[in-house]
Amino acid sequence: MNALRNFAPLQLNEWQPQRRSYSSHTDSFVPKKLLTIILTFIETLNMDRRRFIQSTAVLAGAGIFLRNPVLANLFPSAPFTIRMVRNNVGIFTERGGTIGFAETSNGIIAIDSQFPDTAGHFIDEVKARNAKPFLYLLNTHHHGDHTGGNIAFKGLVQHVVAHENSLKHQKAAAEKQNALEKTVLPDLTFSKKTKIKAGDTKVRGYYFGAGHTNGDAVWHFQEANVAHMGDLMFNKRHPFVDRASGASMQNWIDVLEKTIKKFDQETIYIFGHALNPGEETGNREDLKKFQDYLDKVLRFAESEIKSGKSKEEFIKSTAIPGVTEWTGDGIQRPLTAAYEEVSGGKN
Ligand SMILES: [Zn+2]
Ligand SMILES: [Zn+2]
Repeated sequence: MNALRNFAPLQLNEWQPQRRSYSSHTDSFVPKKLLTIILTFIETLNMDRRRFIQSTAVLAGAGIFLRNPVLANLFPSAPFTIRMVRNNVGIFTERGGTIGFAETSNGIIAIDSQFPDTAGHFIDEVKARNAKPFLYLLNTHHHGDHTGGNIAFKGLVQHVVAHENSLKHQKAAAEKQNALEKTVLPDLTFSKKTKIKAGDTKVRGYYFGAGHTNGDAVWHFQEANVAHMGDLMFNKRHPFVDRASGASMQNWIDVLEKTIKKFDQETIYIFGHALNPGEETGNREDLKKFQDYLDKVLRFAESEIKSGKSKEEFIKSTAIPGVTEWTGDGIQRPLTAAYEEVSGGKN
């Protein structure tokens, strides 16, 4: 089977679509009095959007970001969200996998790059916030919604780092599309673990085995205790399982177990994708829920295969027994992968 052709159309579904409407539960984020103060503040200074974002960094702890519908309406063209997660580590979301970053004392470390256009927005925004140079770009895995924007970092970063299998897949995909010259590939790779230091910040990369692909790195900012999971975490969103690139749902459960054991209760995790905007980060309970979800999909496939159900019938299922929190479209992706994995890679 052609691996590239196999993952390309599925990958489209992996992207988090840009939300133009905002759910009502975020309404309560800004108390009226505080909102009045903010609005007066903006009016008084007649700030442009960029300066407003910088100023709101001080409000980050209160969970007040452009995601708030009232604030978002002030800037209807705001295409992205950037927010600090803890200490000097933040996330950027627009289209594709969540970008993580650290503003170190020496410069910027970025994790994943979405697409060329959105990576450009990210770079502009970070430059406006911080005069320090970009140092490293780390990739969690090869998929285009995480590495397509690597090209925007050309000449900006000193190194691009990924797991060795991720490099193989990135290179193969670029060669297949005859797009090597439009691609920035990792120049440093690792197999089990690696560490990078930039000023006051240390980041470690871990490979815990095949999960979403066979090249998923978990990047952990040690001082802030924030770990970027890449697509090893789909929060409440049906995952893409890239079997053509060595994915394994059963092993994915073990990878999450190893992750939980490696880090601690205080660790904040960044997720590659989330169903709901604003839920791109979480804790070990979220990892356990996803582990449980993967287990339920596999057990469902096992029992249905045992009772003689065909793959075609099985992937028409609209629910997974016992799963309530994973909703939205794309249920066929894990169902297909689970059926193939349980039946031994055939069908
Ligand atoms: Zn992704
Ligand atoms: Zn992916």
